[in-house]
Amino acid sequence: MKTVQKVNVKMYLNYIGGEWVKSTSGELITSLDPATQEVVAYAQKSKAEDMEKAIAAARKAFETTNWSVTPVVRQTALNEYARLLAEKQEELAQLLSRENGKTLMEARGCISGAIDLVVYYAGAARQVYGRSASISETSYTIISREAIGVVGSIVPWNWPVILMMRDLAPALAAGNALIVKPASYTPAICAECIEIFSQVKSVPKGIVNFVSGSGADVGEVLTKSDDVDMIAFTGDGVTGTRIAQVAAPSHKKLSTELGGKSPNVVFEDADLSKAIPGAIWGFLSTSGQICMAGTRLIVQDTIYDSVCAELKAEIKKLKVGCGLDESCAVPPLVAEIQLKKVMKYIDIGKKDGKVLTGGYRMTGGEYDKGWFVAPTVIIDLPPNSRIVQEEVFGPVLVVQKFHTEAEAIALANGTKYGLAGAVWTADVNRAMRVARKIKAGTVWINSYNKFYSDAEFGGYKTSGNGRTSGLQGLYEFTELKHINFDLKPTFF
Ligand code: NAD
Repeated sequence: MKTVQKVNVKMYLNYIGGEWVKSTSGELITSLDPATQEVVAYAQKSKAEDMEKAIAAARKAFETTNWSVTPVVRQTALNEYARLLAEKQEELAQLLSRENGKTLMEARGCISGAIDLVVYYAGAARQVYGRSASISETSYTIISREAIGVVGSIVPWNWPVILMMRDLAPALAAGNALIVKPASYTPAICAECIEIFSQVKSVPKGIVNFVSGSGADVGEVLTKSDDVDMIAFTGDGVTGTRIAQVAAPSHKKLSTELGGKSPNVVFEDADLSKAIPGAIWGFLSTSGQICMAGTRLIVQDTIYDSVCAELKAEIKKLKVGCGLDESCAVPPLVAEIQLKKVMKYIDIGKKDGKVLTGGYRMTGGEYDKGWFVAPTVIIDLPPNSRIVQEEVFGPVLVVQKFHTEAEAIALANGTKYGLAGAVWTADVNRAMRVARKIKAGTVWINSYNKFYSDAEFGGYKTSGNGRTSGLQGLYEFTELKHINFDLKPTFF
């Protein structure tokens, strides 16, 4: 029995060294449905001692088992995990939608995307190749890739399953031991996925551990520990800076996947029947609570008025509501604190520019129970307005105008972020020119929000360091070792 029932609401435990255990504090996190404020689940509000036990378990498993040197075992285990996850796909999607608020359609996408990552890295587990070189007649050199050791994965709440899996799958494929720390808004869906992992019997105890709790209480213990070799962090830039500071004395490896303010550039020759829905999907997915949200629509002046009119008309057709209602397109925000932050930015937008549509919290009836904000578009803003420059993490789009291609590129690159972006045009040469000049880790051409297990994802500038997904996403979880054979070594 891995869980305990509490008033028909599941209580999730920590998973440490292959055992499901309560936290030493005896305190719980209450996970709430953002649409209704009903209790979805309980999880452990762990403390330092719990995290220290998990670190010790992971270290022991890494040092004393043959996990790191048996790629076939790792591949088989990951394939088995993918199969078990697939059996529970719909159940997991519903739990994710209830806990995070996101629409069922996106929740299903999050689970299927996560399964695809596990399958992709199952294949990669047997391709952790290095290289070799003949240096001279007597000297031969091997560059090999090895597991790093114990990895801490610190996960945010907005796409929790994909974001946990893009650490878990490559970290395990490369032969590491892992400790997952979920966000406190979404511990249940992450625990449920770890519970499914615990059914894969070929994995040694302690290779995967799970500890829920706050960043301050357990995240920092994980980040600071000399027994943890790497932190894979996805979250806010301010937290990323704090984590970098706490991790610095131990000089552990750190990968950071941080925020964005991504540009969506629309030229006058673009197919607007695709660009307008692409722009709307780009900023409204998960109600804008997505790092790569296309929150700056940069439109050529000749089509600016018609794009604004169409945007307004199309957005008005979208239903705001509970993510479990399949007819809803715009779900609630995750929590009240997020709603307050978003409304503060909307106020800045009203002061600095003009509201094209939305600009208010939804109230009355079912809306009073949750954290719903009307999809909002703000125009006529100066480029230095905070709502143009900063990540809002809500259903808020700003529209900017350009005349020349050079102006479009300057606007696109005009923030401290560099996570993603898009260009919409019928001219393939222009598409390539602009895509190459946008300083971002991902640029879509005539598309938005496309994410593949095979393609690297990550940030330029303050959007982070390192890459997730793809082969580089595997290599991030390895150390390079140079082994040299010299038949006739000379020293002086
Ligand atoms: P957050 O930074 O508040 O929290 C992320 C995780 O860090 C949580 O598990 C949290 O408990 C933990 N944490 C907080 N303080 C910590 C500390 N001092 N030490 C260790 N851990 C700590 O972020 P969030 O609100 O959960 O997520 C939203 C942010 O994540 C946005 O900025 C978004 O852009 C970013 N994000 C980035 C990507 C990407 O791939 N680049 C993906 C998703 C989300």
